[in-house]
Order: sequence, then C-alpha cells, then structure tokens
Amino acid sequence: MNMQYRQLGKSGLKVGALSFGAWVTFGKQIGDPVARKLLHTAYDAGVNFFDNAESYADGQAEVVMGAILKKSGWRRTSYMVSSKVFFGAKGDRPNEDGLSRKHVVEACHEALARLQVDYLDLYYCHRPDPSVPVEETCRAMHDLIVQGKVLYWGTSEWGAAQIEAAHAVCDRLLLHHPVVEQPQYNLFHRSRVEREYAHLYLSPGLGTTIWSPLASGLLTGKYNKGVPKGARLDTPGMEWLREEILKKPGVEARLAAVPRFAAIAKGLGTSLPCLAIAWCLKNPNIGTVILGASKLEQLEENLGALEVVEKLTPQVMRDIDAISGPVAE
Ligand code: NDP
Repeated sequence: MNMQYRQLGKSGLKVGALSFGAWVTFGKQIGDPVARKLLHTAYDAGVNFFDNAESYADGQAEVVMGAILKKSGWRRTSYMVSSKVFFGAKGDRPNEDGLSRKHVVEACHEALARLQVDYLDLYYCHRPDPSVPVEETCRAMHDLIVQGKVLYWGTSEWGAAQIEAAHAVCDRLLLHHPVVEQPQYNLFHRSRVEREYAHLYLSPGLGTTIWSPLASGLLTGKYNKGVPKGARLDTPGMEWLREEILKKPGVEARLAAVPRFAAIAKGLGTSLPCLAIAWCLKNPNIGTVILGASKLEQLEENLGALEVVEKLTPQVMRDIDAISGPVAE
C-alpha cells in the first residue's frame, strides 16, 4: 500500500493522508504491547504523524508513546509527534489547565519529558480558552517555537472567528502563526469543516488534521445492536462519551443511516470503516485523517481506505451525500 502525502495547509509540512492517534487507547484501553504493534504497523505503512495530548489517559498515553518511539530506532526526522494543551494532565489547581502562558509552557515541558523527544512537531491548543487573552497564548506558542521546543502550532475545535483572531494578533505582533486546526470530521459531523472554515483554506491557508473519522466506532456498525463488550463506549471512564454519542438527539436517524452506508461500501467491494475514512480523504481540504484503533486488525483494515478513494466517483459521492446530508451536524 502506498501512503500519499499532503501539504499541511500553507505550511511546508508534508503529512501522510492517514495518521494515527492515541486517544482512549494508549495507557488506558489497550496494553503497551498492542500499542507498540499499532504504532509500528502505522509507521511501516508510511504514517508519519502520531497524535497525542497532555490529557490522554492523564499523560499516560504520551508516556506509552514516548517509550515506543525511544525504542523504535526510527530517525527523528522520519515522523512527527504532537501534543495538545488545555485540559491538563493531572492536578486541578489554578493554572494546571487552560491556555495561560504558564500552563502552555509547563504543559509543553511535561509533554517533551513524557514523549522523550527534544521538540514537538505540532503543538495544539486543544480548545479555546476564553479566560485568557489570545495575545498571551499566541506569544507563548511563538516563544516555544523560537526556543526550538515546538516546530508548528495550531488549534483544535476553535471557531473560525477565533482562528482569525489569532492570525490577526500574530500579524500585528509579528508572531509565528498557527498553521493547523484539528476538528472532528466524519459522515455525521460536517458543517464546521465544510462551511464554517470554508474561507480559511485559501487564506490564511488553514491545514487540517481531522479526528474521529468513524465517529468513535458508530460508523463501523458495531453500535447498531447495543454496546458490545470491550468497545470504546463500554470502556470504564468513557460513560460521558457513551451518553454524548448514544443519547444525543437524532441518534436513531444516524444509526438507521449506518446500514445504508454499509450497502454502498459492499457495492464497492470494501468495508464500512474504509468507506467512511475514504470519504473524509476525498475532501481536498483535509490534510490528514487521524485513525484510532484498539486492535491491530482494525488498523490494518483502515489503512486500506487509501485504495478506496478512487472508487468514490461523483455518483457514489452523491449517493453518500443523500444519506449523510440529512443526518449530519
Ligand atoms: P475513530 O472515530 O476512528 O474511532 C476509533 C475507534 O473506533 C477505535 O479505537 C475502535 O474502538 C473503533 N474502530 C476503529 N476501526 C475499527 C474497525 N475497522 N472496526 C471496528 N471498530 C473500529 O477515531 P478516534 O475517535 O480514535 O480519533 C482518532 C484520533 O483523533 C485520536 O486517537 C486522537 O489522536 C484524535 N482526537 C482528537 C480530538 C481532539 O479534540 N482534538 C478528539 C478525539 C480524537 P473500539 O475497538 O474500542 O470499539
């Protein structure tokens, strides 16, 4: 299988169309040997971006990933690794979360130690923080870049107006601009990426690394007959996500759409997860689709999505749209 590489927005970075992330799995749902197999399989398939965050398993996801990277023997130049700041890793005293200069800098230092790397390739503001002036956050990110601790910075789930405000500050104060946004994007969650950000792709040239391409597993069909044992929404500590996904208004319509997507996948000779991921890849404004997996077979299957993109003809895209459009946010 041949990985395709895409330019990340207007930055000089080239990122594999598929990348791999640690949320829920590393340091939590899966053992370290499985995590190691997943990371190695991804790397061997040409994945060059591994996504992480201070808050994943309260920092433990970075510890697990860092140990694997350290032992891998891979050239540091051959992959990118990220962290994200906002939710905090441990502790709930003031300044142990959020986007103040203090937390942005301290969280970076902690992520570097946990990941056992000298610099983060990408460092994201995991959510906007209305309690902190955006100038303060932009300058903290800029300073980390100047110090060589971070190469590029970005945002995650910031509104278009908030991203534009950050660019305006960086223009005014001559600071390094954010280059990337990490939004949710899948067949059930489209409007921010397709409409709200539409004007940002050309200028300032927003890059995207999108999350939950399978809507946490909803787009595999596994939740159409209840919650299977051991699946993400059955994982202790993830009750909030189970509520959010399975109790949200419109969930019946979304679940009813799943077999209809599956029928299209079958007609193309592929699986539902591959169809859902390939559909994300089809959008030219997507830099990379971040995959998640708790089992090796899942990752191996999902990497096959690269070959499905060419099967998504204009007619197939219209058929998918007819199902997705009415049920997607
Ligand atoms: P997905 O929506 O693809 O969900 C991944 C989960 O779906 C797996 O862990 C597995 O869960 C299940 N799954 C995956 N493939 C298959 C398959 N072929 N068959 C059956 N089940 C499958 O992606 P994530 O939600 O994990 O998001 C990907 C990455 O994006 C994260 O790891 C993280 O790095 C990033 N992210 C960023 C966020 C942000 O706010 N910036 C938020 C969320 C994620 P199981 O086996 O447990 O059922």
